[in-house]
Amino acid sequence: MTRQAYVDGRFVPIARARVAIEDRGYQFADGVYEVIKAVAGEPRDLDRHLARLERSLGELRIPAPMSMRALSLVIREALARNPVTKAIVYLQVTRGVAPRNHLFPSVVRPSLVVTVRRAPFPSDRERAEGVAVFSLPDQRWGRCDIKSISLLANLLAKQQAAEAGCREAWLVDEAGRVTEGSASNAYIVDGEGRLVTHPLGPRILGGITRSVVLELAREAGIEVVERPFTLEEAKRAREAFLTSTTSLLLPVTRIDEQVVANGVPGSVTRRLARLYAERVGIEEAAAGL
Ligand code: PMP
Repeated sequence: MTRQAYVDGRFVPIARARVAIEDRGYQFADGVYEVIKAVAGEPRDLDRHLARLERSLGELRIPAPMSMRALSLVIREALARNPVTKAIVYLQVTRGVAPRNHLFPSVVRPSLVVTVRRAPFPSDRERAEGVAVFSLPDQRWGRCDIKSISLLANLLAKQQAAEAGCREAWLVDEAGRVTEGSASNAYIVDGEGRLVTHPLGPRILGGITRSVVLELAREAGIEVVERPFTLEEAKRAREAFLTSTTSLLLPVTRIDEQVVANGVPGSVTRRLARLYAERVGIEEAAAGL
């Protein structure tokens, strides 16, 4: 199967897909993106992803390349042309192509690219046994709520975590509090069985998985507290986990050198992982837990 990418109005084989060198995404990272999971051709939580995209665009004053309704049709067409059972849709909008100048161009058309690939979901083993995270200072900018394609600090952190043998970096602010991961949201379960995660605001990305998992937790009668927690608190927590569209819900069983609790995924984590897997229709994810 030849993968096809949607690039500015048409589908082309991915090997022939091109963007202009003066695209502001290429020169300034002046753009935003979304990553959407699809199972059996059906995008999951598409409305939430499109609402976040609209918000990110608005915050950067980039006009939408088309209506969200039309965009959802492009996404469905991209999925139809790239049939895989478990897919990740990557969607990127940049401010467009213009001679390089920091100022916004006065006349410009936003660029839109949509690609689909097989979802790199975590292994059964990672889901069943949990993963390690590595703490690092949060060196990102002050608007982490915008899903910007400018991800250098995230890349550096994730790379450093991987070189330390860890799956993810947990980013720590100047007060010693965990904001989120380099590409995921971060949670602990405290001694009273409450689910604790950083509140929404400019220091974190409002994850779509986060919004779904918090809803599922509340429905299941688990108390949710949206407040920052410190790295030290996390190391002493009863349970810890992370979420993202691609990582799903992954237990965190080690933070730096510290094993979390007894080193196996806790009951709240397992329960939420199962509920989330059921909700998004990834049966295998539920089976392993
Ligand atoms: N935080 C950051 C910094 C991320 O990059 C991501 C994934 N894009 C998330 C959180 C999780 O967001 P979502 O659940 O929407 O994938």
